[in-house]
Amino acid sequence: MPDSKIRNVIVYGLGAMGRPMARNLNKEQLLHGVWNRTTGKTKALNKELDLPEYESLEALCAEADAVLTCVSADQDLIDVIESIYEHLKPGSTVIDCSTVSPKTARTLADTLASRSIGFIDAPVSGGVEGAQKGTLSIMVGAEKENYKRASEVFSAIGSQITYMGKVGQGQATKVVNQVMVAGIAQAVCSALAMAEKCNLDLKKAVEVFSAGAAGNWFLDNRGTTMLNDEFSVGFKLSLLHKDLYICQETASELNGHLEIIDNSIKDYGQLLKEGHGDDDISGLIKLKRENFE
Ligand code: NAP
Repeated sequence: MPDSKIRNVIVYGLGAMGRPMARNLNKEQLLHGVWNRTTGKTKALNKELDLPEYESLEALCAEADAVLTCVSADQDLIDVIESIYEHLKPGSTVIDCSTVSPKTARTLADTLASRSIGFIDAPVSGGVEGAQKGTLSIMVGAEKENYKRASEVFSAIGSQITYMGKVGQGQATKVVNQVMVAGIAQAVCSALAMAEKCNLDLKKAVEVFSAGAAGNWFLDNRGTTMLNDEFSVGFKLSLLHKDLYICQETASELNGHLEIIDNSIKDYGQLLKEGHGDDDISGLIKLKRENFE
């Protein structure tokens, strides 16, 4: 693997996370181009950032040091890698910021290695706000040398960049992170549904909770919005539901199980069935309110 720094990056996947990541890479002059399945998003960002239009993925990939992928789920990432595998130059690197299973990360790394293409699993935490501000927490699994080559890319999109070990260990860290995310959402949504029924001054209550031992990111960033029934910003619950299955599968591979995950799969599954898949995960409060009716 060459020891030069990664500089020409393509972002593949211009969703809620990929778009702001591309903008931040562009600010640091690390962005070579962008690509998205739905071409309108590619055209819009090309126009906004004054990037060159590419007719084909082949032409775009031919000049890239790295492709930063940020797509929905395991099979989507597998499809994307299949579509770029032949076009990437040997010595280039795929940096994947999607949340997928550690097993998928390891399998894709092996596939890419057969063409001398590196792979870094770099799932992120910090929400759309973190992606916009360039303050994501990034959990990296990679060959150490390849991780060092990507340091400027990570600094452009994140503020807490942590090397967790070999390929797959970034995603393993994210699995554990999502167990906490699910548990915190359960606790905060249940507690705030109860606070409403206690007739508390909710503004004061959120301030009190935030300042003490119950304080946490989810309460700070989603407490007031969920109490105002605003669920349009943030982390789509369909994506957390997908992550929860990765948590369940990983726990099972470790001969364990986590009740918090089983319950959360059930709850978010119900919200999905009711058509709330695009709502933020704080939409869970809708179900928790039913416990007090
Ligand atoms: P999103 O807004 O739904 O965007 C998903 C992106 O993936 C879109 O660009 C979509 O393309 C693309 N995509 C999906 N399936 C594809 C396929 N088969 N082939 C090619 N492209 C495909 O999702 P997001 O919020 O950006 O999340 C992306 C990843 O980051 C997920 O793994 C998520 O779990 C993770 N993540 C999200 C957050 C958050 O707060 N949102 C936080 C941390 C981690 P189209 O535009 O064509 O649909």
